[in-house]
Amino acid sequence: MVNESWTQAERTPFSMRFCPKCGGRVESVVPSGDDRVRAVCSSCGEVHYKNPTMVVGCLVEAADGILLCRRSIEPGYGLWTLPAGFQELNEGLIEGACRETREEACADVEVTAPHAFIDIPHVGQGYAIFRASLCGSERPQPGDETLETAFVQPGDLPWKDIAFPAVSFALRFFVDDLKDSKRRVHHATLRLRAMGKRFDVDSYDVVGHQSFPLGEGC
Ligand SMILES: [Zn+2]
Repeated sequence: MVNESWTQAERTPFSMRFCPKCGGRVESVVPSGDDRVRAVCSSCGEVHYKNPTMVVGCLVEAADGILLCRRSIEPGYGLWTLPAGFQELNEGLIEGACRETREEACADVEVTAPHAFIDIPHVGQGYAIFRASLCGSERPQPGDETLETAFVQPGDLPWKDIAFPAVSFALRFFVDDLKDSKRRVHHATLRLRAMGKRFDVDSYDVVGHQSFPLGEGC
């Protein structure tokens, strides 16, 4: 049974046409005992589940500001972001956040605290951003996916040139923490408004933003 309240993406969430296991044709159906549409092989019956992916990254703090990377690839070519990317299999959240920072900014970092967990249900993504500090004295350098790296003071952040809405909100939460002289961990959900654009931060409503104070030493 298809629930009438489902979005179009929830009703037809699959681009898979053929089963990777047997090559049979894949159909979008609600399997027996389930409550939502899945990609099901019409030949071998395999249910190909699709679940959200996690983007992991670091908000690296140094005396001269926050580490930003200017992207050398799409989406967001030429725009700024925190070093972040998709978590790999067999990798923890923090491990992935540090790996992405090493890949995009050639920087070894140590995570000091969780910062923001942001859900974007309509694209099936979650973000886990950690506060971190540089290890050693080497300056970050652009990795393969980065045109340049820079340390930017919170008052000078390039808000109109941030590549991803979730990164924008993670930075906003950080700036709010600084203004309040508090260190907090945040959770929020981003909802794209009707007719909104996916990479436009002003197209989103923040739903259920919660913040929790971090203990001493974080
Ligand atoms: Zn199959």
